[in-house]
Order: sequence, then structure tokens, then C-alpha cells
Amino acid sequence: MKSVSILGATGSIGQSTIDLIARDPDAYRVVALTGGRNVRQLAADAQRLGAEIAVAAHDDAFGELSTLLAGSGIEVAAGRAALVEAAARPADWVMSAIVGSAGLEPGLEALKQGKTLALANKESLVCAGRLLLETATAHGATILPVDSEHSAIFQALVGEEMASVERVIITASGGAFRDWPMDRLRTATLAEASCHPNWAMGQRITIDSASLFNKAMEVIEAHEFFGLQASQIEVVIHPESLIHSLVGFADGALMAHIGPPDMRHAIGYALNWPQRQHLPVERLDLARIATMTFRSPDEARHPALRLAREVMEAGGLSGAVFNGAKEHALDAFIEGRIGFLDMATVVEAVLERLSGEDLGAASMDLETVLHADTSARREADEAINRLRLRAHA
Ligand code: NDP
Repeated sequence: MKSVSILGATGSIGQSTIDLIARDPDAYRVVALTGGRNVRQLAADAQRLGAEIAVAAHDDAFGELSTLLAGSGIEVAAGRAALVEAAARPADWVMSAIVGSAGLEPGLEALKQGKTLALANKESLVCAGRLLLETATAHGATILPVDSEHSAIFQALVGEEMASVERVIITASGGAFRDWPMDRLRTATLAEASCHPNWAMGQRITIDSASLFNKAMEVIEAHEFFGLQASQIEVVIHPESLIHSLVGFADGALMAHIGPPDMRHAIGYALNWPQRQHLPVERLDLARIATMTFRSPDEARHPALRLAREVMEAGGLSGAVFNGAKEHALDAFIEGRIGFLDMATVVEAVLERLSGEDLGAASMDLETVLHADTSARREADEAINRLRLRAHA
């Protein structure tokens, strides 16, 4: 029986993970489930799966969670420290599916148990790739990618030598606005940016898909996780979202991973690795699909990909700055304080502003990463205020 914990159990990835685990209850013992504001969902899943402990991320949720789980025998806790402690509980397999840099510390704690971390939280790798990989090595832990693109690359690399890899091609659906003209993007609303054409995901990653910030994060994630140079990573728009990524080898061969746009594939692959087991995902009928299309991304419309290359060149803590600024700009867009295109303007301004701080050479531990994250959010706030002042002038 495999012991599992799910960090971010109430979110889109967390719920898909629970869907797979609940189909085979005798195969799993659930240790910890963590959530944020959706305390009812957390309590219901903890009961359904017989979890040892349920943890809500915010202190003020303790009372409600305790009431909901009273008499169940399930331990209840709330707050940041409790969440990090729950991540450190021994489990064979931990899903890291908290959204944002808030997922970094719990992920690091899980790695210290020396088991397997299934990593959906791409922000961890963008902010602190080196720290994450070094922690895994130091504790004999395994990180398995869950982002569909990185799972696809990981699967295409089985049995291959990294030395024979020429390039990877990361596919992008293009998000909600892939066919929108530039002037319409300026006035894009939150509701419009929150609808993905192919994937059902959390709101934040859906908006990041529309701005291509999600793809920029994935490029940095591939650079960190697979040790690829920026020049080896290409992005292609593939509106059908059927090819999840490709690896190009020295002999010219391209290995593609093809499957339905259903995250339960990548989650299930990580859950069953190194074996493959039956998964409840659609089987593709290629004759019915008939065509798949590809085109180059338009970087003039979406500067996020150019910014990702700058981050990879700078290295060090610039990923933490990029992510912190992006998360803060995204909050401002969600709150209606800035427009859709302003998000990239804010991130670029923060990277420029903090580039003098020798981010590339800086040493990396949790403290320095969190400091870079905080500085980036403070600078982003100032950039947002400048934009708002200009708009009202
Ligand atoms: P969701 O927004 O759906 O879920 C996020 C989860 O994190 C929820 O459980 C949420 O709790 C919890 N949470 C939010 N804020 C905090 C916090 N400050 N501290 C602790 N927990 C918190 O996100 P997704 O499931 O879409 O994405 C999760 C991660 O996986 C992200 O890093 C994303 O980039 C990545 N990913 C997602 C994919 C997808 O298909 N959704 C695909 C590939 C990668 P609550 O909801 O209870 O408030």
C-alpha cells in the first residue's frame, strides 16, 4: 500500500489526483491533505479518503475545519507552520499542487523525507530550481514532473541519453486570446481571460495561459529541471493541445507525446511511475482528429517568452523575481487594478529595476529566495502605482 499526501488537495490538480486515488482505495493510505479557503471540500475529501490529517493554510479556518471533522478521528490543523509540518510527514508520494510560491517551502520539506515529490507547482522550479534539485539529491528524493509538457518530455526521454538531446519543443495552446488582435487584448476582461479553450484548470494558471506567462514559466521550468540551455528550448503554438511536447535528438528524430488534454494522464503517470497502469482518460481516435496545426508564437503580442529568456540568461534569483512580480501583477489584474497587457509591463519593469542587484550570482537558500520574492512584489506594487497614476493623469 502506497502512502500519499496531497498539498493543494482542494484545487484543480488536487481534485484530479483525488479522483485517481479514490478509484483504487485499497492501494493507498492517505496521510495529509491540505487546502486553502475551500474548507468544506477539504473536510469532505479528508473524510472520504480517511486521511490522517487535514490542514487549512490559513489560521482563521481552524474553527470551521474542526467543526466539520469533529468525531471523525482525523487530526485537524491550520496555518502556515502546520501546513509545512504536514508536508514533512513521512509519505511515499507527495503531490505538490499548491498554487504560487507558497508551494515552495512545503515542497522542500516533503523532499527532505527522501521519497517522491510529484511536482505540479512549477513556481518552485522557477523560483528555486537549483535549491529544489540540490535538496532532492541531498536526501535521495525523486522529483517527477506533473506539468503535462514536462511529463511529456520526461516520458520521451526514457532510455535516452541527455547528451543526444538537441532541443525540446514545448507546445502551447495559445490560451483564451490566441486569435485576438492586439487592440482587443488591451481591454480583455477577467472573465474573458479566465476561460481556457482546451483545459479545465485553476483560474490563475488559466489567465497565465492567455498571457503566455504560463508558457514562459514552463520554459524556465524545463531549463531548470532538464538542465537545458535556453537556446535548446522552443515554443510552438498548437491549438488542439494534443501533442504535449516533443524532444528532438541528434539524429533528427522528434519524439512526441500525444494524448487528450486531461491532467489525470500526467498525474497518473507520476503516481504509477516507473510502471504504467490503466488510467480513465479518453483514448484518441487519430482518424477522427485528422489534422493537428502548429504556428510560431507572436512575441510582440506576448513579451513573456522574451522575459523568460532574459531570466534564464541571468540565472540565480532572477527566477524568483520574475515569479514574484508575475504573481503580484496577476493579483492586480484579478482585482481590476491593471489591464491585461499591463501584467507584462509590470514584470519587465521589476526585472529591470532589480537587475542591478546581482541576482545571477547570489547564493540560493529558502531565505534568499523568499527575500527576492518579497522585493519583487514590493517593486511590482510600485510599478502598478506608476501605471495607475499615468492612466489617471
Ligand atoms: P488551483 O487554484 O485550482 O488550486 C490551488 C491549490 O492551492 C488549492 O488547494 C488552494 O486552496 C491552495 N492554495 C491557494 N493559496 C494557498 C496558500 N497561500 N497556501 C497554501 N495553499 C494554497 O490551482 P491548480 O490546481 O490549477 O494549480 C496548482 C499548481 O499546479 C500550480 O502551480 C499550477 O501552475 C500547476 N499546474 C496546474 C495545471 C492544471 O491543469 N490545473 C497544469 C499544470 C500545472 P483553496 O482552493 O482551498 O483556496
